[in-house]
Amino acid sequence: MNESLQPIFDEVLARNPGETEFHQATRELLESLDPVVRHHPEYADAAIIRRVCEPERQIIFRVPWVDDEGRVQLNRGFRVEFNSALGPYKGGLRFHPTVYLGIIKFLGFEQIFKNALTGMPIGGGKGGSDFDPKGRSDAEVMRFCQSFMTELYRHIGEHTDVPAGDIGVGGREIGYMFGQYKRITNRYESGVLTGKGISWGGSLVRTEATGYGTVFFANEVLKSRGSSFDGRTVVVSGSGNVAIYAAEKATQLGAKVVACSDSSGYVVDEAGLDLALLKDVKENRRERVSTYAEERGGSARFVAVDSGSSVWDVPCDIALPCATQNELDGKHALTLARNGCAVVAEGANMPCTPDAVQVFTGAGIAFAPGKAANAGGVATSALEMQQNASRNSWSFDHTEDRLHDIMTGIHARCLETADAYGTPGNYVAGANIAGFIKVADAMLALGVI
Ligand code: NAP
Repeated sequence: MNESLQPIFDEVLARNPGETEFHQATRELLESLDPVVRHHPEYADAAIIRRVCEPERQIIFRVPWVDDEGRVQLNRGFRVEFNSALGPYKGGLRFHPTVYLGIIKFLGFEQIFKNALTGMPIGGGKGGSDFDPKGRSDAEVMRFCQSFMTELYRHIGEHTDVPAGDIGVGGREIGYMFGQYKRITNRYESGVLTGKGISWGGSLVRTEATGYGTVFFANEVLKSRGSSFDGRTVVVSGSGNVAIYAAEKATQLGAKVVACSDSSGYVVDEAGLDLALLKDVKENRRERVSTYAEERGGSARFVAVDSGSSVWDVPCDIALPCATQNELDGKHALTLARNGCAVVAEGANMPCTPDAVQVFTGAGIAFAPGKAANAGGVATSALEMQQNASRNSWSFDHTEDRLHDIMTGIHARCLETADAYGTPGNYVAGANIAGFIKVADAMLALGVI
């Protein structure tokens, strides 16, 4: 790391003890900024890098609720409003038992630069809770969401902070939270949350956007190498919102998606995933991927997580990690390289460990970081905000075309920036530098605030 950046990183470590994922995300950004600090002394003079590493506001709150047996349950809620230089804070809410401040800060930090890369007027934030919706009834999820929003509502607004979904937060949860916001404020303020249902202010393509966008980005990477998805074998991890729609778009582009996973294990389906069955199992019935294997029969088998094997052992040309942070490590990356994988595009946020990224670089595997490759979700959220502001709703095809243009634009920006700063073909450097400069210039213009 550049010698002027090391003290900033040391300060991040000292001020945010124990927040390992946040440390990992800041280190990854700072390691890319060496050529930036050399070309732009004005950023150091205005302490832009130090300031960008410090959230503008961090909110932590109690979320009490009553379960179906009448017992009082207690969770913790978070909203980190990280940077609003480019627009209202924008970023999802995650409901998962592993959530703590360090996870929300890493996600919020990534979100700043991802949102800048989309070219849309949105700042960066993230939130969530250690609540686990798995195994909870709809009524319990509703009571939790209502309690969560009863505190969160005072901090958000269409011009202030606009949350969306993430792990554990889909259309059902957004519905309960929007309902409670509307009830408390007596305002039908559609632009306060994105990921809404189509009949009450949502945008077509928002459900598909992150997965589709990741595949659009990966397709640009393939094109730049004279290749395409057609006839390729793909492995996705996860089987949630991002994974399912990444698999769907890859299949539409002629690829065969042969594996996906959840936290219980993975399924291999040599005939290619039956997406209608997968959606029914995961989206409607909320069951495990083993149910997919049981019901699919012949071509599919389930491998449990305690077998010691992982979804990355399944040979593929293109790998799309779409589950969670640090799910693909150096060992997995070596297996992918040995099996001839040519492209890895992150649908999830920071799913590949630094070791894994090093292996990809050494093996000549093209690596597209989540900051760029999964920006389609938030970009389409911004399109949802545009539709809400104009009281309009666009067709599926029009919205998908916009998403496609945004993803090809981000791809081009990453490559041009990587070239301009002396790291040709390096998507990590390109994404970090392009996103950072956009935010840094806005912060300079807005003064010391
Ligand atoms: P989701 O619908 O809740 O799905 C998450 C999937 O990942 C599930 O299959 C889940 O399995 C699996 N998973 C979670 N934690 C895991 C773990 N520790 N080990 C193995 N599998 C695990 O969430 P999502 O919206 O698809 O989000 C997935 C990733 O994409 C996250 O990193 C998120 O931050 C990122 N992302 C999402 C969006 C968006 O628009 N939704 C946008 C940008 C980035 P279980 O059900 O067994 O837990």
